[in-house]
Amino acid sequence: MKPLILTDLDGTLLNFTAAFEDWLTSKDIPFHPNKLGDHYCISGMFDRKVDEKQLVSEFFESDYGGNCQALDNTIQHVRELYDLGFDFIGITACSDDEALIELRQKNLLSVFGFCIPVYATGFHGSKERILNSYSSSIWVEDHIDNAIAGNDAGHTVFLINHPYNQEDGPYTRVKDWEEIKEILCAGI
Ligand SMILES: [Mg+2]
Repeated sequence: MKPLILTDLDGTLLNFTAAFEDWLTSKDIPFHPNKLGDHYCISGMFDRKVDEKQLVSEFFESDYGGNCQALDNTIQHVRELYDLGFDFIGITACSDDEALIELRQKNLLSVFGFCIPVYATGFHGSKERILNSYSSSIWVEDHIDNAIAGNDAGHTVFLINHPYNQEDGPYTRVKDWEEIKEILCAGI
């Protein structure tokens, strides 16, 4: 059986922050830079109260939402892992609307050049059920709570380092997918 990598999408494979900020700029919506990239806080980006779910839905309906770029130093190493025989499955906490899931899968295909099936938990949904449905695999995340949930489900967890996830926990903190690839390949 091929080794399996379960992975979050935003802040793990894709640079949601850059795409979201570019979209806000295109709409002339003022926001505080770095609130998302440093604190992972959409509501804190704005001086007024916003409907986060609605705003993110509008983003994903735009060209920006379906064309998120990869995080730095990601494409080559994810591709190499795929070519080595690793299978990828995406698990993301965005709307489970089928059109959106398809959009996200197309985004991944155009960025990485191979199919990554995506499970969506719903906005703010829990990933525990999906993580628990897989036997011991690799789980890659940027969100502390979900990283811990992956460990609790028996997975080997890598946390992609960001300013907003500096707490230590039951995971291996990595700078990027190059480090993940080096660790996984050392074990082959
Ligand atoms: Mg994420």
